Amino acid sequence: MTDETSEERARKSRWWQWFSGSAAGDSAEPDEGAQAPRELTAREVWLPAKRRMTSKIADFLIDHDLEVLPATLTIAYECVTGGAPRLAQLILERTEKGLPITLSWIEEQRGESTADKSGEALSVLMSRLEDSLDEFSKTTNGARTATNEYSTALRQHVDDLEGVGRAGVVITELAALTRAMMERSIAIETELACSERRAQALQTTLEETRRLADMDHLTGLPNRRAFDHMLEREMREALANDEALCVAFVDIDHFKRVNDTHGHPAGDRVLKFVGETLNRIADARCFVARHGGEEFAVIWRNHSIEKAFRKLDAAREEIAERRLVNRANDSPFGKITFSGGIADVFAYPEKSAALKAADEALYAAKESGRNRILRAGETPDPRQQAA
Ligand code: GH3
Ligand code: MG
Ligand code: MG
Repeated sequence: MTDETSEERARKSRWWQWFSGSAAGDSAEPDEGAQAPRELTAREVWLPAKRRMTSKIADFLIDHDLEVLPATLTIAYECVTGGAPRLAQLILERTEKGLPITLSWIEEQRGESTADKSGEALSVLMSRLEDSLDEFSKTTNGARTATNEYSTALRQHVDDLEGVGRAGVVITELAALTRAMMERSIAIETELACSERRAQALQTTLEETRRLADMDHLTGLPNRRAFDHMLEREMREALANDEALCVAFVDIDHFKRVNDTHGHPAGDRVLKFVGETLNRIADARCFVARHGGEEFAVIWRNHSIEKAFRKLDAAREEIAERRLVNRANDSPFGKITFSGGIADVFAYPEKSAALKAADEALYAAKESGRNRILRAGETPDPRQQAA
């Protein structure tokens, strides 16, 4: 075989390194003569950390006088691991004020921050997905480089085989080279299959997180974030198809009284009931969302404001006629009503102006006695009975 040039030696050492699984330039080699310390086992590394974590979770529950339940354990875990920074801050502020931390209070705070949290989770997942794709492309590039270098080395050996009479040595080297390449190919296949599985799992989690990020956990309706997206989409499509578009805001009347009289969990059930009733008017052209608190938002495509008004007013009447009872103690909730304001989106130069008009109409409906729907710009009828 001919003498290797320094360039060839460097190239060979790179692909041999690659075949053997260590990246070129990797400085993981210990210093010559240095005493290598004994490596800690995984158990030795993780056990103290696990103990610390468990005791922090226990301290959290004891400090805040919370029962040991799956829900409180999850909350404690999120707070001590930094998974719920906003909630942890709210708990701290409340504790400093000397107010008690209860499960229902925590759940109320969590409900409000669900959209934010889902947003955070989404961005974490997106960056994990990016890392995964990055890894995938590095593996593919590594495989491509190795194949190229293998072909070059192979060609060199074939040239040697033709040119000189040292066939035995060259064949032995070729066999070693081929075996190494085969082993590396198997390793690459395993790495690629693993990357693919991870990417698929992330994709599934991403879809689920996206769905949760758009959903209100109490009513199961789309949340405010989803409503904003839907409105943008519907505006674009209605404009493209020359269709009408209406938007309404709905707010339950004197809802604070329901909570004050019957408690928060009963208030939640009323909210769910109103959400379900309103959602019955939803169809392929009508979307109902929980906009926040005891407020809902409705979008109608291809509906005149009169048609949208009639549908919303029918839902209002249906709820006002029901006599709901608190199933926890059979006490009547009394009359549950809501008020609403509705606007024709394209009657305004901008989306924000249309939303403001619907909100102002809702405010006017409240001011003029509640349990009524007003169209934007409409003057309330003073003869209509107050709620
Ligand atoms: P108005 O007729 O003027 O709208 O009066 P209101 O009492 O409905 O309005 P206010 O804004 O004073 O009170 C709204 C209440 O809704 C206060 C808040 O605690 C309650 N609320 C908001 N979100 C939830 C929830 O998810 N569950 C429960 N149970 N109550 C909620
Ligand atoms: Mg209200
Ligand atoms: Mg309100």
